[in-house]
Amino acid sequence: MRTRREFLIDSMKGACASCIASGLFLAGSCSVLMAREKDEKKYTKEAMYYEKKEEMKILCKLCPRECSVADLERGYCGVRENRGGIYYTLVHSRPCTYHVDPIEKKPFFHFLPGSTAFSIATAGCNVECRFCQNWDISQFRPEQLESIYMPPETVHAMAKKSGARSIAYTYSEPVVFYEYVLDTARLGPETGIRSVVVSNGYIQEKAIIELCQHLGAIKIDLKAFTEKFYREVCNGKLEPVLKTLLAIKKTGIWFEIVVLIIPTLNDSEIELRKMSRWIRENLGPDVPVHFTRFHPTYKIKNLPRTPLPVLERARDTARSEGLNFVYMGNVPGHESENTICPSCKNTIIKRYGYLIMNMDIANGKCGKCARTIPGVWS
Ligand code: SF4
Repeated sequence: MRTRREFLIDSMKGACASCIASGLFLAGSCSVLMAREKDEKKYTKEAMYYEKKEEMKILCKLCPRECSVADLERGYCGVRENRGGIYYTLVHSRPCTYHVDPIEKKPFFHFLPGSTAFSIATAGCNVECRFCQNWDISQFRPEQLESIYMPPETVHAMAKKSGARSIAYTYSEPVVFYEYVLDTARLGPETGIRSVVVSNGYIQEKAIIELCQHLGAIKIDLKAFTEKFYREVCNGKLEPVLKTLLAIKKTGIWFEIVVLIIPTLNDSEIELRKMSRWIRENLGPDVPVHFTRFHPTYKIKNLPRTPLPVLERARDTARSEGLNFVYMGNVPGHESENTICPSCKNTIIKRYGYLIMNMDIANGKCGKCARTIPGVWS
C-alpha cells in the first residue's frame, strides 16, 4: 500500500509530466517537493515510548496525554506521526530557532551563574497555554515553520564556538522533541557541554527519569496549583506535573521551578500557600522558586501585567512557608532577583535582570558564613 506521502509525490510527478507536455512549466514545484521529501527523511526517526496496537494504531506513552494514533495521523503535539504502525518523530535535528542566551534567562539562578546557554527549539507542544509567549512556534507543525538541519554533533560544535557552557532545550516544549534532546544530551560527557531542559513537566515517569540521567539541570513550569487552571487555561492536568517533580527530585538532578503569576487566574494567597507548602514538604526548602511577571499575550490579552505588590505577596507567602530561595522574575532591578544566604543574609549573588553584578560565593559556599548554597556552581 502506498503511503499518503508517496501518493502525493507520484501525483506531482504526473502533474509535472503533463505540464511539460502541455508547455506549462512546473518542474520548479516538483523539485521543491522532492527536496522537501529528502529533507523530511533527515528529520524523521522512530519515536521512543510508544506501544503498537491493532490495525496499525499506536499508543504514545511519552506524555500523559497518551494519544491513540491511527496510521498516517499525528498525535496532539503535531510532531509525531504514525506511518504504517511505526511511530516517528518528525523533528529530530530540526530546530526552528536557536539563540545564545544568558542562563539566567531560562531562568536558572543556581546553575553556572553568568554563563551562556546555546538554546534550541523545534515546533510543537503537548499543551496549549493561553498565555504562551512562544505560541508562534509551540502551536505550529514543523512544515509550517522555517527550520534548519542541526544534528546533535552540530549543536555541540555551535555551542562550543559560541562559548556557551550548556545547551538549553527551551522556548517550545522539549518533551515533544524528546529523542533529539536525548541524542544531543548524550554527547555531553564527550564535549564537556551540559544539557539543560526548560519544560512544562508534562511527561511520563519513565521518560523523565531516563532523560534526567543525561542532563545537568531541569527547570519546570508549575503553571498553577489547581486542576481547574490546568484544564481551562492550558488544556492539561496538574497531577502529572507534580508526579514529574517528585520523579526529578528522586533522580538527584538540579532543578528549579517557575510560576508565572497571572492576575486573577492563579494569584490567590490560598493557592500559592498550598503550592509553597507542597514544594517544601515534597521537594525540600532549598529548591529555587521564581515567581515571574505576566505580560498580556496570545489568547490572554484582556488582563494587565502582574502588579508588583501581587508578585511581592507571592514571594512573601512562599518565604513564610519556609522556602529558602524565592525570586521574582521579569522585574529588572528588583531586590528579589538577588540570591541571599538563608543563614547570615549576605547577598551572595547580586543581579540586574540577566546580568550578574557581583558574586560572593566560593566552592558553593556563602562568602561570609560558609553555609553551603545548593546548586551547580562549576
Ligand atoms: S507526546 Fe505528543 S503524541 Fe505523545 S502523548 Fe504527548 S501529545 Fe500525544
